[in-house]
Amino acid sequence: MEDKYIRMMEAFALTKKYLKQQMDLGLEEIQLSPDFKVDFERKRESRNSLEDLYHNIKDCQKCQLYESRTNFVFGTGNSKAEVMFIGEAPGRDEDLQGEPFVGRAGQLLNKILAAINFEREEVYIGNVLKCRPPENRDPLPDEIEKCEPYLIEQIKLIQPKLICALGRIAAQALLKTKQPLNRLRGSFHDYQGIKFMVTYHPAALLRYPQFKKDTWEDVKLLRSEYDRMIGNRS
Ligand code: SF4
Repeated sequence: MEDKYIRMMEAFALTKKYLKQQMDLGLEEIQLSPDFKVDFERKRESRNSLEDLYHNIKDCQKCQLYESRTNFVFGTGNSKAEVMFIGEAPGRDEDLQGEPFVGRAGQLLNKILAAINFEREEVYIGNVLKCRPPENRDPLPDEIEKCEPYLIEQIKLIQPKLICALGRIAAQALLKTKQPLNRLRGSFHDYQGIKFMVTYHPAALLRYPQFKKDTWEDVKLLRSEYDRMIGNRS
């Protein structure tokens, strides 16, 4: 160990001497090889990645919901997605599997995505809360307040061009409004410079199929805005 340390110090001293000689000869900057730069950038990016965020927060105990959760439900999908879909909180299936939108509502969301030519893996899907409220009750204001910063961090890392809030809770939490869903849906809002749309939560569509028509109009609008902004690559 001691030998290794001495060799390292000798290497530093030689490098320093070499750089000084080069500077004396007029060297003003060092050109790094492209491979080194790419590797450096990749490492810097990964330090600030979703994976790092996940590891930093997966054992969160900031609110009471940690006590009853089976799994922490972080989010899923493309870490560089152009579109994010955000619901309110995990339900029973999501809590059991540790992934958002995997139950009946999740299957319906997959169908909605397919209907507008999105693969589930192409977008990013998450929730305002990462832990399931007991009996699927509505999230409490202090739970939202404590958990929302994690979602905000996810949005910052993903940098989507479009966000679609699924349901009243996610829409009101992110837009900081008490307006009802039927006033919020049907047009785009601004969320920190990101185009933000609101539509019904798939679980609500399972209970009230009469809202499917409006949802279809909303997601068609989302898709056409996506095509306008990003280009139709399908
Ligand atoms: S809901 Fe959010 S704030 Fe509450 S324990 Fe889970 S991760 Fe933490």
